[in-house]
Amino acid sequence: MFPKVEINLSYIKYNANVLQKKCSASGIEIAAVTKLVRGDLSVVNVICESGIKMIADSRLLNFEKMSEINMEKLLLRIPMLSQIERVVDLVDISLNSEIETIRKISKVSKRKGKTHSIILMIDLGDLREGIIDDSLIDYTISETLKLDNVKILGIGTNLTCFGGVVPSNKNLQKLVTVKRRIESKYNIKLNIISGGNSGSLGLLSDNKMPKEVNQLRLGASILMGIGLNDADIPGLKQNSFNLVVEIIEIMEKPSIPSGEIGLDSFGNKPFFEDLGIRKKVICAIGRQDVSLEDITPFDKGIKMLGMSSDHLILDVTDAVNNYSLGGLISFELSYGGVLSVMTSDYISKTYV
Ligand SMILES: *Cc1c(COP(=O)(O)O)cnc(C)c1O
Repeated sequence: MFPKVEINLSYIKYNANVLQKKCSASGIEIAAVTKLVRGDLSVVNVICESGIKMIADSRLLNFEKMSEINMEKLLLRIPMLSQIERVVDLVDISLNSEIETIRKISKVSKRKGKTHSIILMIDLGDLREGIIDDSLIDYTISETLKLDNVKILGIGTNLTCFGGVVPSNKNLQKLVTVKRRIESKYNIKLNIISGGNSGSLGLLSDNKMPKEVNQLRLGASILMGIGLNDADIPGLKQNSFNLVVEIIEIMEKPSIPSGEIGLDSFGNKPFFEDLGIRKKVICAIGRQDVSLEDITPFDKGIKMLGMSSDHLILDVTDAVNNYSLGGLISFELSYGGVLSVMTSDYISKTYV
C-alpha cells in the first residue's frame, strides 16, 4: 500500500544503543521520547532492548497503547486540568509548572491510592513551559511539599523549542543553582535534573554538561540521528524514515500553464519559468499527508514543482533514475515530515 513510510528499526536500535552507552558513562539517564512515532510499539520495543528504562511522550493516547510496556513512563507536555485522572492512571511521572495542576494531581492520586512523581519545569529563557521567577519556584515547591501523594522528583528545563535558545553550560548551571537553593532551603533531596532534549547532547560531547545534570529526554537523536538545529549527530544513523510514493501519471508537458493565471488551490499566485517541454510526474501524495518543504527526493536530479491536497508534481527530465507509471519514488524526511507522515492515516507504516 502506497504511500508508505519505511521505518528502519535497526537504525533506531543502533542510535538508542550508542546514546545509552554515551549517556550512562556520564551518569545520565535517558528518557526516550516517542511522540514523533505516536508511541509506536515496535519502536518502543527496540528502545527497551537498548537498556533505556524510561519512555517519555507528550500524548496520553500514545501511553494507552503502551499499557503492556514495563518501563517508567514520563508525560512531557504539562498536563491539562481536564486529563488528570488519566495522567495518574497512565504515567508515573509528569513535567509540571502550575501549582493548581499539581494540587489536582495530588487530590486524584490520593483518591486512587497512588503516588505520582513530578519534575518541576524551570524556564531558562526559551519561553515555553516552566517557571521563570525564583520566588514562584520556591512558592511552588513549598506548596507541593504540603501535598499528599505527589513526590517532587526533581527539576528540569526545555530549550531550543519556542525561543530557539541554545543549551549552554551557563544556562544549565542555573538549574544546578536552583537545585542547590531548593535542597538547602527546604531540606529535601532532588534526585533528577532533567537537562533538556536532543539539542543538549552537544554539551555532553564537548564536556560542557554540568555534572549534576542526570537526565536527558531524547527523541530526535534516537529516532533520526539529529540534534541541535536538526544537524546530523556524528556517530548516529540518519534516514530511519523513508517515504515511498507511487507514480500515477508520467507525461511530457509544457513548463508554463496555458490560460489566464489566477490563484492555486492554496490561494497563492504560482510562478513559472519557461524551460520548454519537460517530463513530468504526478505522485499520489499531497498536503493532507505532508508539506512539500518537509520532503526531499533521494534522486538528486528530480525537481519538485508543487503539491496540492492530493497530488505531488515533479520534473523528472534530469532524474538519475528512469521512472514509469506505477513506479515508486523515495524521499528523505525532515523532523516535521516524519511527524506528518506518522500522523497521517493515509500513509501505511512498514518496518525494514
Ligand atoms: C519533544 C520533547 C523532547 C524531545 O525533544 P527531541 O528534540 O526530539 O529530543 C524533550 N522534552 C520535551 C518537554 C519535549 O516536548
